[in-house]
Amino acid sequence: MIRHETLNPPQHIYPIHPWKIIETSFYPRFLAQTETLFSVGNGYLGMRGNFEEGGPVDQSGTFINGFHETWPLVYSEKAYGFAKTGQTMLNVTDGKVLRLYVDEEPFNLSDAFLQLYCRTLDMQSGTLDRELLWETPSGKRVLIETRRMVSFEHCHLAVISYQVTLLNAEASVVISSELIGNRQNQAGVEDPRQARGFQAQVLEPQLWYAKERRLAMSHRTLGSGMGLACCADHIVETDCAFSWHSECREDYGKLVLSVEARPKVPIRLVKFLAYHTAASSPARELCDRAEWTLDQAMRKGLNTLLEEQRRFMADFWRRSDLELEGDPEATSRPLGEIQQAMRWNLFQILQAAARAERTGIPAKGLTGQTYEGHYFWDTEIYVLPFLTYTAPHIARNLLRFRHGMLEQARERARQLNQKGALFPWRTVNGEEASAYYAAGTAQYHINADIIYALRKYVEITDDKALLFNEGAEMLVETARLWADLGFFSQRHGGQFCIDGVTGPDEYNTVVNNNAFTNLMAQENLRFAVQTVRLMHENYPEHYETLVHRTHLDIAEVELWEKAAENMYVPFDEKEGIHLQDDGFLDRKPWDLKKIPRSQFPLLLHFHPLVIYRHQVIKQADVVLAMFLLGNRFTMEQKKRNFEYYDPFTTGDSSLSACIQSILATEIGDTERAMKYARYAILMDLADVGGNVKDGCHIASMGGTWMLVVYGFAGMRDYDGQLSFHPRLPRQFKRLRFPLHYRGKLLEVEITREATVYELREGAELSLVHGEEPLVVRKGEAVRRENP
Ligand code: BGC
Repeated sequence: MIRHETLNPPQHIYPIHPWKIIETSFYPRFLAQTETLFSVGNGYLGMRGNFEEGGPVDQSGTFINGFHETWPLVYSEKAYGFAKTGQTMLNVTDGKVLRLYVDEEPFNLSDAFLQLYCRTLDMQSGTLDRELLWETPSGKRVLIETRRMVSFEHCHLAVISYQVTLLNAEASVVISSELIGNRQNQAGVEDPRQARGFQAQVLEPQLWYAKERRLAMSHRTLGSGMGLACCADHIVETDCAFSWHSECREDYGKLVLSVEARPKVPIRLVKFLAYHTAASSPARELCDRAEWTLDQAMRKGLNTLLEEQRRFMADFWRRSDLELEGDPEATSRPLGEIQQAMRWNLFQILQAAARAERTGIPAKGLTGQTYEGHYFWDTEIYVLPFLTYTAPHIARNLLRFRHGMLEQARERARQLNQKGALFPWRTVNGEEASAYYAAGTAQYHINADIIYALRKYVEITDDKALLFNEGAEMLVETARLWADLGFFSQRHGGQFCIDGVTGPDEYNTVVNNNAFTNLMAQENLRFAVQTVRLMHENYPEHYETLVHRTHLDIAEVELWEKAAENMYVPFDEKEGIHLQDDGFLDRKPWDLKKIPRSQFPLLLHFHPLVIYRHQVIKQADVVLAMFLLGNRFTMEQKKRNFEYYDPFTTGDSSLSACIQSILATEIGDTERAMKYARYAILMDLADVGGNVKDGCHIASMGGTWMLVVYGFAGMRDYDGQLSFHPRLPRQFKRLRFPLHYRGKLLEVEITREATVYELREGAELSLVHGEEPLVVRKGEAVRRENP
């Protein structure tokens, strides 16, 4: 169900444009939301859409993926094995600020008289641009043109161009370009999803200096001991007379530019910003590195950097764009906004992932501190499909990063009295950071989620090297965990049961035999058996290394196989449905229609115990299993399960609507599919959940790619075989998207009548259209009527 169903369907407020998000006037009441929506980042560095002038501001934010502080998790009632260390991605040195004064009058958007306001996030140039026309109280007209970019090519670099032109008078203009250390961190009080904040300052100043127009500042985190350096340098371009001075203290540095502005003569200050971080804190070295980044960037100059950014974006769209053309005759609703929002979603994933090279993807990307910058299963189940099919090298980095946590995962399994490895439910540094075990640590399915993503990645890219190295080691340790965690239950006829876990649905916790977990664990075990046997028989050298790293005994595999083949999957014969868990039907059904809208999400209005004793669901669980492991369910089961669980599904997690849409499409309910699709696609741009101010929902955004490709195009990739069963909703005329598959580039174009497959790179590719096997060769587009 859609809990806001009685409301109008979501719609965003920005003018429709295929490649831009444009804000045409300054709305103070949307300040917090737009700070998120206009964020720019590259997966390493992210900046919220705060105004250059330093205000008005809701949450000023500059984040570096993985740069975090640790702190002791305090429990007033502790138990054995609880997670010990909290981790919070920090708000780092703010280099966005460039304050403007005209005749000593400060420019502040809150009270400025504006004749023009236009802010644009341009998804082709990869920049955030503003054009403002300010009339000062004395009648001087000041044109302000700014451009901000976080470079995709140079991950440590951001550039801000700030240009001021007096249109009708002379004036004295001052621009103060600043570096501000120790910015405030988010401190959520009522909402457990937000970062908890810090009582005291967490960044200890290490080194600071001003050198000509260059400012440098470095810090160290007190708990985790990480090092951070931020340096800025400036170029002034103007034909007006000017002077400048610079200074830097431990948490505050500035370059002040004073100009005698003449009418119509532009003054441009270009600020280059470099950030470097390290696990320890060699301040001098980090500042040197930041300075080298600046040297290189300034040699290139703004125009070259902008050109590189544009090229990067063009390549991204060539590999990843989803074209969705609406049919104006089929609907009165503007479908251009769907195209626009869809592209913005993909752009945000890029901004969260492109240069996440030694890190994961935080739940909010680098747009906010909510969820403390933690990595969850969001990456593997929701974002990796898109990346694997459009940018496999990023997917590989992310899987390698997971593998980098294996040692800690082994240790965590020991802490939980288990063999093998247990990956953390949420983490930055590899250690479990979830303080609420019921909806955290208990989500053992994270192990199987990682392996699921690994398997898909290997099937789609054929990257055996990753499988035999990092992959195999993760497979062995996760299989050991499952084999040790579950047991062959006499009550269930000797089948393999897994008790005391939480599935994806966080409104039913610590349950027995969560169907999703059992099915995914079964896949995990099977893939481990298959891979280990393959290596044992055909790749002895790799196998030897694996044995060396894991002390594997080939006999272990038999237990894994037995557990997989005897996996218990709860099913209720009377209802004809899979049980979300053994006890789900015993709980009291909760009629969501009777709950006032103001009481959602339930987690902010009901004690967990109240929620846990009801049949009520936060997010797709059985329904998600039916998508991920769709070949394990009959169509009849899919229909019955979906109809049963949908009315109990609150969608209190943004990870739900996209999956519900895919399943609704598959069972033929295209109207419901479209409704869910709209919610998912507009989740952030239309602020469906009411919390976009806290950051983008990156997993949901990945889910929107899936709902188009797996939903509307009906793609499936069971065992690495591509198949399509297009079911374009009537609101659309045409859908087109590229897919990378084993080094080939396939382009799929779907209209209401037919589908055209074209191979842009590679010699040939076999796929299935409806029921028909096809071979697509380069240069020969294949067209088929839709099934
Ligand atoms: C969801 C989790 C998700 C987390 C971070 C929670 O609300 O229930 O499934 O991993 O948000 O996005």
